[in-house]
Amino acid sequence: MMDDGLKAAECCSKNSAQPDLGNMIQTFESIVDNPMSKLLLQKALNYCEKDKKNRLEQGLKIYLDKGNNLEKESCLKCRLMSRFIGFVIKKGSESFGVSEDELKNQMQDDYWAKGLTSVLKGIAQFGVKKPFIPGAPFQIVWNITHACNLKCVHCYENAGKKDVDELSSEEILGGLDILAKSGVTSVAFSGGEPTVHPNILKFIERCKELGMFPAIATNGYALSNPKTCKKFAEAGLNFVQISIDGLNPKTHDKFRGVDGAWSKAVKAVENCVKEDMFVEVATTVTEHNYNEIHDMADFVKGLGVDWFMLYNFIPTGKGNEIKNLDISPEKRYKLLKDAYNDNSDDMQILSTAPQYARVAESMVSKDHAMIPTHFYNPEYSNPAVMQLADFIGGCGAGRFYLSIEPNGDIYPCVFFPHEDEVKVGNLLEDDFDDLWKNNELLAKLRNKEILSEHCGKCESRDVCGGCRARAYNYFHDILAPDPGCINNEEEWNKIFSAEPQKSTAK
Ligand code: SF4
Ligand code: SF4
Repeated sequence: MMDDGLKAAECCSKNSAQPDLGNMIQTFESIVDNPMSKLLLQKALNYCEKDKKNRLEQGLKIYLDKGNNLEKESCLKCRLMSRFIGFVIKKGSESFGVSEDELKNQMQDDYWAKGLTSVLKGIAQFGVKKPFIPGAPFQIVWNITHACNLKCVHCYENAGKKDVDELSSEEILGGLDILAKSGVTSVAFSGGEPTVHPNILKFIERCKELGMFPAIATNGYALSNPKTCKKFAEAGLNFVQISIDGLNPKTHDKFRGVDGAWSKAVKAVENCVKEDMFVEVATTVTEHNYNEIHDMADFVKGLGVDWFMLYNFIPTGKGNEIKNLDISPEKRYKLLKDAYNDNSDDMQILSTAPQYARVAESMVSKDHAMIPTHFYNPEYSNPAVMQLADFIGGCGAGRFYLSIEPNGDIYPCVFFPHEDEVKVGNLLEDDFDDLWKNNELLAKLRNKEILSEHCGKCESRDVCGGCRARAYNYFHDILAPDPGCINNEEEWNKIFSAEPQKSTAK
């Protein structure tokens, strides 16, 4: 989705030349992944009291502002840093086969520049690794409240009423400052239902002020009112994810526990499209709607949606009570293949199933070249860019993403249960940068070599690695195999031979 670091790759793809990407990556690695560059980049992470930014961000700003006043107004160290950054970018652009101006143009987008800063910070802190670890999460999904206006049976949050220990609005605003200072690129507000929080508009505005890309994940109930939708757009929201469970309004309403929920969600999509927001429709695929997905893609495309996201069902929260609706590995495989084929220029079909990258890799062709990532899907005209998939690396839990609970507790991804074993820390009680750098659970999630069973030796391990949340929810082990994959059918059969799966799909 808002994985700006990856837009660098998209930019590169627009060059018509067919450069050897393996070589390019190696060249870029040799520029930035050597002791001197790393030392300089580490120094760049220091906060500059005069310029009120870390030197890396300020140096990048000066570099992009060349010829204007910022250079004169900035301190000497930040000015020197801008020269080093200019050198790295020049060399990087050469090695990726794009012109420096093209790259500079792309960087005029603040979020893109923020993503790049995070990439450089990641290199300084962790080196050029496969999979890549940025200097701060590209995206935080922040469940700001447990309160919700619907009663969904598959809710991962077990949402309903506001919790007694939820952070106050002041604390949330302070938390956003912490995330911005650390270099987070994007914050997606979720819940519960984020639109029922009385100060959601303030949070969106603060995100924008701090240079982070704001997004929300909503059931659409509130945004079905055009005036409310306009207010969100005016606050600076231009990415919205709206959940629709299927084509049949009755099934959706039953699943969501409130009559009329489907129509409101569709209305919300229409309103957001009118407000020119980037709109993603999200559908959790289960046995209930498996047979509707193809037609649903046509339906949401007709509404003017930009992305159709097929969510992997994960048996956590209330979803744990309906795990017999999980689709089998064969059905998931077919679903992902069909989704890949149904992709078009008008609307991209993505999936949170990391196996999508594996499927795409096996089906990639000249007309249909892309690396599907969890939340962002750059399209490439140059298949060599597929090599970047190893760096992007499938499941991004604890590496590209973190989630925050209403009380400030941090987990690797929203789909992990709220258990101490998988809790990373707390936004207000712990040092966020220290957690990102040194937390043992995160280090484990970033190391694909220690995955067990087939996920550990799989040839697609680097581009996929399995959904760690599914593995944990089924086996209580973050390194266990993801039983949703055709390579792990044995594990799937073990689970469902003890607990027969309900089958409604053909
Ligand atoms: S075995 Fe694991 S790593 Fe390999 S494709 Fe399946 S889920 Fe992905
Ligand atoms: S655990 Fe990984 S693959 Fe699964 S939902 Fe979270 S980020 Fe995605």
